[in-house]
Amino acid sequence: MRGPAAVLASIVATLALAVWFAYAWFHQAALRDAEAQGNAAIQRLASDLLVSVEKFEHLPYLVGAEQMLTQALRSPDNPARIADANRYLVFAQKRTDVAAVYLMDTEGHTLAASNWDLSSSFVGRNYRFRPYFQDALKGGTGRFYAVGVTTGEPGFFIASPILDASQVIGVVAVKIDLNAFEDRWRAENLQLALSDEKGVLFLTTEHAWRYRGLYPLPGPVVTQLRETLQYGNLTPGILIEHVGNAPGPQVQPMKVAGTPYLVQGRTLDRFGWQLLLFSDPAEPRARGLLAAELVGMGLTLLLLLMALVWQYRRRLAERQASMRERAQVVAELEHRIATRTAELTAANDAAVQTGKLALLGQMAAGISHEISQPLTALRTLADNASKFLERRDAGNAGNNLRLIGDLCTRMGSIVGELKAFARKEPARLQPVSLRHVIGSSLMLIEPLRQASGARIVSDDTDLQVMGDPIRLEQVLVNLLRNGIDAMEAQKSERQLEIRVHATTDGQVCMSVQDHGPGLSPDVLQHLFEPFFTTKPSGKGLGLGLALSKAIVREMGGRIDAVNTHPGARFDLILQPASPTPEPHARPAD
Ligand code: ADP
Repeated sequence: MRGPAAVLASIVATLALAVWFAYAWFHQAALRDAEAQGNAAIQRLASDLLVSVEKFEHLPYLVGAEQMLTQALRSPDNPARIADANRYLVFAQKRTDVAAVYLMDTEGHTLAASNWDLSSSFVGRNYRFRPYFQDALKGGTGRFYAVGVTTGEPGFFIASPILDASQVIGVVAVKIDLNAFEDRWRAENLQLALSDEKGVLFLTTEHAWRYRGLYPLPGPVVTQLRETLQYGNLTPGILIEHVGNAPGPQVQPMKVAGTPYLVQGRTLDRFGWQLLLFSDPAEPRARGLLAAELVGMGLTLLLLLMALVWQYRRRLAERQASMRERAQVVAELEHRIATRTAELTAANDAAVQTGKLALLGQMAAGISHEISQPLTALRTLADNASKFLERRDAGNAGNNLRLIGDLCTRMGSIVGELKAFARKEPARLQPVSLRHVIGSSLMLIEPLRQASGARIVSDDTDLQVMGDPIRLEQVLVNLLRNGIDAMEAQKSERQLEIRVHATTDGQVCMSVQDHGPGLSPDVLQHLFEPFFTTKPSGKGLGLGLALSKAIVREMGGRIDAVNTHPGARFDLILQPASPTPEPHARPAD
């Protein structure tokens, strides 16, 4: 079981590795996508922001070039001059659509403003503590983002000095409302924040992050912020912390107020600001996971398919192998059967041959006896015949020669009978109809039957046996002739009966019954021996029953003789031709 377990383990390991690679690869790809998209968005939004702010950069300078403002600065106590300045500032504010435009003296005191007539008017307020005022007073352009101390509304302040013979006599400031950007960013469904040069977020789509430092602010910076009231009351605490390794060259994984984000930033060099874009890290991860799932499922399916194909092919191979094996077994069996059959046939042939030889041995004794006598007789008859001829006694010489001829005929018939039996080839067994055999035999015996005046009765039952039809006829004719011979002398009814029936043990019996004297104990004892005969010389050779017994045995059967009082019955027990006939298919009639 070590093999399959190891294979399974390596398959699982490979699968896990492939899934992990799929996740890593697709996660990276998703991050690169997010980074590229984020960069494009930041680029666009930053330039949008810059353009919006920069177009007002020279506005305070242009506004300050108006003589009315110089006059108001020269005579700040003249209400008519101040009213003129106020009107002009309202005009400038309406034309440019900024939040406010206002005029301050060198002390930071507001003399006139576009919102002079509102409750939240800047007029009368002092802004010398604001860095933008200080910068303008020094002759430069002051820029500053702050929450308005008067309105409480944040804005970007740009300030320029008003010069009279290169002497700063006042400052014009413009307040630009940037809150509209937050709404625009939200409308685009983005999470963005703008931080100032100190790292304080002052413009953001998330309310909670506003006026918080990205990183811990150094003490002097905090003090300065408090003094300038730049963001009113600053919310303390760290907002952002770095976590993990950077997944992309410009994307940083960070936690913002405890929530993980991927953060991309871009510096707006002009103002020292930084625009930050926050995105959900779960999104690229989800894409990676989805890819990993798909790859995992695909590979698993592929593996399953491969396993199925492999199993199918193995089963097929097994089936083919078992079929080959079975075919081999069958072939082996057939071969063994053929060999055994050949052996048995050879043995059987040998046995039959041996049986014949034994019979021939028996016969040889009989033959030598049967032939030596006639030979002696022939010798004597021939000698006498030549003497009769010398004496010119033609009559006796003729008699002797006739006797010699008779003896030769007798010896010829012995040889003839033996010749028929001594053939080596085995009987050709085939299904034989007994009715056919009986019919032929009756035809052969008919002359003898007529001469003797006997009657032969045969029933009509027909059964098939395995046998050689010619030899069966030979046997039956011999039995009929013996029966006729046995009844020759008697006066009473001379009748022979032939019957055919199936035996209880599945064989076929053909019997010949006579009404003669039956078989004496002496005859019964020697009945089947060659050359045993009770018949007068010239009538019987005593070979009939001995040959019949050998013939019937060759067909796998036997021959029995019984006394039936009166008469004798000879039963031929033969092998049926398949199928096995019904026992006692028809009673004899
Ligand atoms: P064969 O007929 O030449 O004598 P068989 O072998 O046929 O030789 O018969 C041997 C002897 O058996 C016969 O001579 C006869 O004595 C006896 N025998 C045969 N059949 C009968 C029979 N049906 N009834 C009485 N004796 C028989």
